[in-house]
Formats: sequence, C-alpha cells, structure tokens
Amino acid sequence: MSQLSYRRILLKLSGEALMGNEDYGIDPLVIHRLAREVMEAQAAGAEVALVIGGGNIFRGAGLAAGGMDRVTGDQMGMLATVINALAMQDALEKLGAKARVMSAIKINDVCEDYIRRRAIRHLEKGRLVIFAAGVGAPFFTTDSGAALRAIEIGADLLLKATKVDGVYDKDPNKHADAVRYERLTYDDVIRRNLQVMDTAAFALARDSDLPLRIFDMSQPGELLKILRGEDIGTLVQG
Ligand code: UDP
Repeated sequence: MSQLSYRRILLKLSGEALMGNEDYGIDPLVIHRLAREVMEAQAAGAEVALVIGGGNIFRGAGLAAGGMDRVTGDQMGMLATVINALAMQDALEKLGAKARVMSAIKINDVCEDYIRRRAIRHLEKGRLVIFAAGVGAPFFTTDSGAALRAIEIGADLLLKATKVDGVYDKDPNKHADAVRYERLTYDDVIRRNLQVMDTAAFALARDSDLPLRIFDMSQPGELLKILRGEDIGTLVQG
C-alpha cells in the first residue's frame, strides 16, 4: 500500500452530485459509484468523513424565492441533507462498510446526533461518518457545515467535489480560454474574488488554516489519486 498524503479527510459532495443525469433526487448507480470510491479511499488507509448537500431535493433560498418562509425552507433543506446522508449510509453498508449518519439537528430515531468526540471515535474505529444537516441553523449551507466539521474533527484536508475540475480565472463553460489554477492562497481567492465556497465556509477554513482541494469527482479514481499526493484540481491553502 503506498503512503497516503492525508490521514483524515472530509469530503463534501453537493446534493447535485447524487443526481447523475436526472434533474431531481438520487441516481442509484451514481451513489453506488461514489460510495465505492469512498470505500477505496478508506481501504487505502484514510479516515473519511462526508458531508452531502441537499440541493438535489430542496434549497431554502429556492423555496423562499417561490414564496415560502426562508427559515422553513432552510429547515426543509437541512432535512434533504439527512435524506441524502441516509441514502449514502445505505449505499456504503450495501458494499460492506460501516457508516454512521450524525445530524446537527435532533432527529435521533433515524440517525445519531452529532457529538464531536463520538464522531472522532467512529473514525478511529474504521467507520465512515456522514455529517448531515449542515451546521444545524438556517441561512447556512453545507459548505459551512463541511468546513466546520472538518476543523472540529481535525481533518488534514477538506475536499470539495464539484462539476468542474478546479477553480478557474473565469467560467470554463462560457470561456474557452479559461485557465485553471493549480494552487491558490486564501488571500489570492479573496483578491481575485474567486468562487471557491460560500463566504462563511471560506472564512472558517482560512481562519483555521484548513487546506481545501476543489476537484471533479465525476471522474472516477480522482479521490484516491489526491490522497496519494497527485496534484488534481485546485489546492487552496495559506
Ligand atoms: N441548510 C441550512 N443550514 C445548514 C446547511 C444547509 O439551512 O447549515 C439548508 C439550506 O436551505 C441549503 C439546503 O439546506 O440550501 C441544502 O444545502 P446546500 O444548499 O448546501 O446543498 P448543496 O448545494 O451542497 O447540494
């Protein structure tokens, strides 16, 4: 087994990452593939925690734009992340992994409450941990939940899986000459006004010197390559 560059990581998947080519919900083949890759990372020796968004089901801001109370919409969004986390737990268990969903809001008939020391214990015992419901408060996102939990559990790296293979100087879907950054400092991101994560999440990461890597997980095998030290996507650090 080759030496890994990271001991404990937190992987943030957007809810949309679970949709595949659908426009809503969860594609079973896609979640199965993602679960397999997470297990491969763990089998290689990493402790892996996950945060999954809820955007494939509900986002509070979208519901509010349709006239719903924003706090209620965000609560629905947080419940959507619990649904995705349960689906990922199931996909992981079907493959033989041990996984635990821990929620920031109390919903303990369906999963555990988030307790930091217990989460770390799960990881040490070889369980995969899926943090659900973001930070547990409205007006936040699961990016903030991912940064917060990564810091709390002492992760060496926060990996943000997106549909684009890193951070570009301009939108690569609109500009053929867009250039991908391989490495950025936190200050570069602010100075160049780059969209890496939402502002609250980014501020948390920067203040705690948590390195971030933005990459495209729809490309199979990328997660393991990153753990083995390959420069894939964009690395942001101090
Ligand atoms: N949400 C929230 N507080 C949190 C995390 C999430 O209120 O700490 C709600 C919010 O409405 C958000 C939704 O849950 O839009 C789904 O999360 P997110 O948008 O981060 O999902 P993603 O875009 O990653 O799929």
